[in-house]
Amino acid sequence: MDAFDDRCVRPHFLPPQPTMPLAPAIYPAAVYRCEDTAQAEALMAGELAGDIYSREGHPNGRQLASRCAELHAAEKAVVCSSGMAALSSALLALAAQGDHLVVSNRLYGQSLNLLVHEAGRLGISSSVVDTCDLAATAAAFQPRTRLVVVETLTNPTLRVSNVPRLAELSRERGARLLVDNSFASPAMFRPLEHGADLVLESLTKQMNGHSDVLLGALCGKSDDWERVPGVVSAWGFSAPPFDCWLALRGMGTLALRADRAAANALRAARHLDANRTSAGQVAAVHYPGLASHPDHPLAKQLFGDCFGSMVTFTLAGGRTAADAFIRAARNIPFCPSLGDLCTTLSHPATTSHRKLSEAARQALDITGGTIRLSVGIESAEGVIAALEEGLAAVPG
Ligand code: PLP
Repeated sequence: MDAFDDRCVRPHFLPPQPTMPLAPAIYPAAVYRCEDTAQAEALMAGELAGDIYSREGHPNGRQLASRCAELHAAEKAVVCSSGMAALSSALLALAAQGDHLVVSNRLYGQSLNLLVHEAGRLGISSSVVDTCDLAATAAAFQPRTRLVVVETLTNPTLRVSNVPRLAELSRERGARLLVDNSFASPAMFRPLEHGADLVLESLTKQMNGHSDVLLGALCGKSDDWERVPGVVSAWGFSAPPFDCWLALRGMGTLALRADRAAANALRAARHLDANRTSAGQVAAVHYPGLASHPDHPLAKQLFGDCFGSMVTFTLAGGRTAADAFIRAARNIPFCPSLGDLCTTLSHPATTSHRKLSEAARQALDITGGTIRLSVGIESAEGVIAALEEGLAAVPG
């Protein structure tokens, strides 16, 4: 084995380490070495803990999943290559042909697409309802309803799901409640502690917080977990090791970031609301921390005094005003995602909700003038100044 070619491809051995690194290691390996056939058989059968092929599991994925489980006080957690992969895992693990889903009409567009159209192609039917209306939700259940899917805070008007009551409804009817908590993060709300059976996080958002990975997590209870790991592996939803490593690093500052962003968001919401009553460029502000929000009492009951980092407002001048604001607010990048360190904005009518009819958008309180902010961790004064830069270009 001394030829140059052989030296290039020699297998690696981990050198013994007298001291342990403080930062976690990255394991990009796709495959792991087996000592002998007995070990290979035991690993393959799941009788022996250990990695063998990284689609089935790897140390960085396990570290991140166990951190997610800890943050949500969950018995089980798995990380996937995106929030959508985590939702697909829940669907494929917990529902089968002939089953039925109850789905919030305010879900993220791709979630609705998955749970209505893609699930429909697999013979899983769904009823789309306003899950803020508990009577309508109760009426939507069918004998084979397996899953109820809602978001803690809806996009873009930040309606609050009554998770304890929805959990009760679901439990009484033998269904599971899955809560997509991506707009809140566990720093603000932990649905499992309020009766939900499963919680989904798009780690892409505030959990990682740096807009540099696409990942998702599904957390839940042991009873519901039998099929989850097999689905993740068979459908190829597993998450890349380096992205898991980055997200674990990002999540180290989640508590600090979430606190600062929520404090800034409250300041921004109040500032925009003051404009509504004085200058009048702003026609409406949606923030669950404002007394004017329809779910403010429920938000206080569920979230205490932290109402999150998302603020939505509508400019009275419609799309022309929104365009002027977006052009002028140079320190608030227009990025149709959320949860970054810096404040970003999205324009629902031309991005997340563009496929809806005008009437359907109106029913959700979305106009061409609606702008959704994901407030970041700048100084509060910096956020207000950035908003003022935009408002200065909007006709009064
Ligand atoms: N859930 C919500 C509320 C979202 O906003 C998104 C993406 O924007 C997702 C789920 C999907 O997450 P991902 O983009 O990580 O697949």
